[in-house]
Formats: sequence, C-alpha cells, structure tokens
Amino acid sequence: MAKVIGIDLGTTNSLVGVVGLGKPTIIPNLMGNRITPSVVRILENGNYIVGENAAKALITDPKNTIAGIKRFMGRYYNEVMDIVPTVPFDVVLGRNNLAMIRCHGVDYSPQVISAMILQYLKTSAEAYLGEEVNQAVITVPAYFSDRQRQATKEAGKIAGLEVLRIINEPTAASMAYGLDRKKNETIIVFDLGGGTFDITILEVGDGVFEVLSNGGDGFLGGNDFDNRIVDWILEEIKLEHGVNLSNNLLALQRIEEAAKRAKCELSELSQTQIKIPYLVKKDGDFINLDLILTLTKFEEICEELFERLIRPCEQAMKDSKLFSSDIDKFILVGGATRMKKVSEIIQRVFKTKPSSSVNPDEAVALGVAIQSGVLGGDVTGILLLDSTSHTVGIETERGITTRIIRKNTTIPTKILDIFSTLLGNQTSVEIHILEGEGKLCIDNRSLGRFILDGIAPAPAGVPQIEVTFDIDANGILNVTAKDKGTGREKSVSVKASTRISDSEVEVFSNILDRNAVSIQKMQLK
Ligand code: AMP
Repeated sequence: MAKVIGIDLGTTNSLVGVVGLGKPTIIPNLMGNRITPSVVRILENGNYIVGENAAKALITDPKNTIAGIKRFMGRYYNEVMDIVPTVPFDVVLGRNNLAMIRCHGVDYSPQVISAMILQYLKTSAEAYLGEEVNQAVITVPAYFSDRQRQATKEAGKIAGLEVLRIINEPTAASMAYGLDRKKNETIIVFDLGGGTFDITILEVGDGVFEVLSNGGDGFLGGNDFDNRIVDWILEEIKLEHGVNLSNNLLALQRIEEAAKRAKCELSELSQTQIKIPYLVKKDGDFINLDLILTLTKFEEICEELFERLIRPCEQAMKDSKLFSSDIDKFILVGGATRMKKVSEIIQRVFKTKPSSSVNPDEAVALGVAIQSGVLGGDVTGILLLDSTSHTVGIETERGITTRIIRKNTTIPTKILDIFSTLLGNQTSVEIHILEGEGKLCIDNRSLGRFILDGIAPAPAGVPQIEVTFDIDANGILNVTAKDKGTGREKSVSVKASTRISDSEVEVFSNILDRNAVSIQKMQLK
C-alpha cells in the first residue's frame, strides 16, 4: 500500500512526515532540511522555486516572492485589506471578489501558491521514500473557517494529492505528545505560529484524543510582532534621519528581516542590536541603521498583541468547563511561543508553567504523520475525536442567526432542525448559511445561500422544512433542506465561493507537473 504523508502547511514554515516502523519521522526536503520555508518565488517563465532558495529572493525579488500565503487562503479581497500594505508583492481583486497574487502579469490564487509548496513537499517525500505519493493528511489551524479548510483541500488537489483528512494543528501536536501515554491526562495545547493562534484543551490517554474545546485568533501570529518592530524602526528612522521608508520596498524587506531576527533574539536576551548597513542614501550618504531594542520596549510596543492572547484562553477554559487545577500539562507549539512574555501570560492566566516536552517546531508535523499513518493503515489503536471551532447556523427572520451546530461539538456530526415559512403561501425559502458566534447575521461569515422552491402554498408556519447540517471529519460542512410536504430536497456541500474553477485546477495542475519535472532534473545534475 502506498504511503500516506502528513503535511504541516505553516504560514512561515512547512514540514512533511510519515510513519516508518511505527514511529513518526520528519522527511527532509530536497535540500536536506527538515523545515521548509513556506516561500514561493515565481519566475518570469512561469516556473517557480519553493523553500530555502525562494526565501533568499525575499530581498532581491520581493515583488515575485511570496511568503505567508496561508494568511490569504479562503479569504476575500476585502478580508485581507489589513495585510495588503504589509506585503511587497501585488495582491489584486480577482474573480468573485477573491484576493489574487499578481506576479509577472499572471494572477495566482492563494490555493495555487499553496499547491506549489505542497507539491515541493510531495516531491521531497517521493525522493525520500522512493515511491510515488498521492495521498496526504494536511493540518490547518483549529480556528480556520470552513472556507479556509476548503481552500486547503483544494490546494492539495491542485498539487496532485488526495487529501484524506484535514486535521487541526493543536490536535496533531497532542498526538505527538500523547502517542505512547497510557495514563489519561487533560492537556492544553497553546499554538502560536507565524500567522495564527490556537488554543485547544484535550483529554488524551490510551490512544484516545478527545478535544474538549477550541479557541484562538485566526489573525494573530509571529508576523504581527515582526510588523510592530518594523513600525517602530520606521518611526526611529523618521525621527533620527527625517526619512520615510514605508514605501521603499527594498529597504522595507531588509527592515523586516532585521525585525524578525530581533524578535527571535529577544527570546533569549534582554536587548538586541538592530544593524542594517547601507540601508538607504540620504543627501549622497548612506544611512547605516544601528538601534538597540530592549525587551521592555519590545513588550511595550507589542502589548496589545500579547493581551489579545488572553481572551481566547479564558474562553476555551470556560467552554471546557474545567479549572486550571484540572490541567495536567500545558504544551507549547509554534515558534512564536518562544517569546518570553508568552510563558509569563500563561502563568498569569493558568497559574501553571508550560512544559517543554515537545519540540515546538516539529510537534504538529509529527502528529500529522501519526494521523497519516492511521489512515494509511500503519498505525492502529488511535481514536481522534476532534471538534468544531465555530458555530454554524442559518439566517431566520429579522437578520438573526439560528444556531444549528455549536462550536466545540465533536465531529463528524449531523444535526437536523425543522423550520417553516414566514409568510402565507410562501412557495420558496432561502437557506442562508452562516458561521460565527454572533447573534446577528451581519456579525457572522456568510458561507453561502440556496433556494428551496416548490413548497406547496399553505398558511405561514405550516410547511415543515427540514434542514440538516452535517460536518465531516475534516470540519467541512454539508447542508440539506427538505420540504417534508412535497419531499423536495436540495443538498449542497457548502462550496466556498472562494473556490477556483475546475478548469483552473486543471491548468495549474499541469503547470505544477511541468515544474515538478524540472525539480527532478535539477536533482540529477
Ligand atoms: P511556525 O509557524 O511554528 O513555524 O512559527 C513561526 C513563527 O515563529 C515566526 O513568526 C517566527 O519568527 C517565530 N519564531 C521562531 N523562532 C522564534 C524565537 N526564537 N522567538 C520568537 N519567535 C520565533
């Protein structure tokens, strides 16, 4: 049986793993590294480079080098407006209000860019295993919405991978922690990556992994802390040299690199020196940037970001109906949890010290490798009971969301509710599907709408419309509406409107295939 691979598709870095001899293993990429930067550089001829070599071009070719594509997955153009000014590449408004990335005059959807990363990992796995790989399990942040999950699945398809399962990153990390544990434990996985923050409370033991609650912030990660330092540096340059560099792409890219380095150094040190020689010319002379950033100053400029970590933690605790004293282990995942303040916040909120029993960079990949082993038949005796991270429902009168499946429900799940008409002789109803915790529809995300017609005329409130919500093990929703009177039924898999068309999938699969061959050729030289 061909191997199923597990992929941790991260905002900053991605990893691929597999189960060999019953144990999860990280597969090195084609450059021999366990961690692949999630960076893609598009070349003028349409070919592309992924990983370390692409990351080198972040400074030399920023317009065509894309980092952090995960932040664009399954999101409309108007939803990424806050990110657009912070990236050096062009983000344009595409078909159906999608955000597209324009390189060398060609528009690429975030799914296609992600597919390039996935395909590189697939090729790396094939080189390592010596066989073709066609199936994968991919992780997503627990807080990913339905649309973002669908976009991830679609990226896998474009890359030539059948995505057997989408699993949540913290759940994967808990598997890496709990694989060999016999005793039951209640654990918290606190996952702060490059672009997202998740907190998940689980019970693990004897092969069973049951999620009790999920919380998080889909738009909070290490990148946001980098951006705060960038803003601070720009301000310092303005004060000291009277130069505004916020539109100077090349300078910005170098400042961003320096900011990221400073952030990481401040996880170890109480201050760091930010030196960027020959940054930019002013009045014929170069500005050589030389600043000191203290830990205190860093924590001050990022205070609002650190504070945003607290509420999701409190909410997840509340949802789990547990107390801090019930928690046996607190596990940190994601590179950004190395920031000193993170441990401090955890101790303040949970009155407990986080454990360093898993490698924060590899836990998700090892966990998803285990799950790929389960689905590929290499691992037995594991039961994963994940749960939904968002409430889903439909719009009912006066713009109210009627909740059908509440967040933190164990998946897969199926719930049926009966609705009726608002007006007399109403022969059709609109099913407007929403995701989110808000009471009002305008506070929630719209996942799609469809009309069920052919309802027999009857007084208001008499027809019985059966609405079924079905969430599969990937956390993806299917909705069915049925008029019990006539038996008329309409069933939709809530196809995200951020989808790209099947013909686009085909076109890009071919481009990716062509490139895969060129990667292999490069290997042989
Ligand atoms: P991940 O998604 O787990 O790869 O996390 C990547 C994020 O972690 C990026 O924003 C990195 O800059 C950040 N990161 C990695 N190492 C450190 C460190 N030592 N201190 C602070 N942040 C870090």
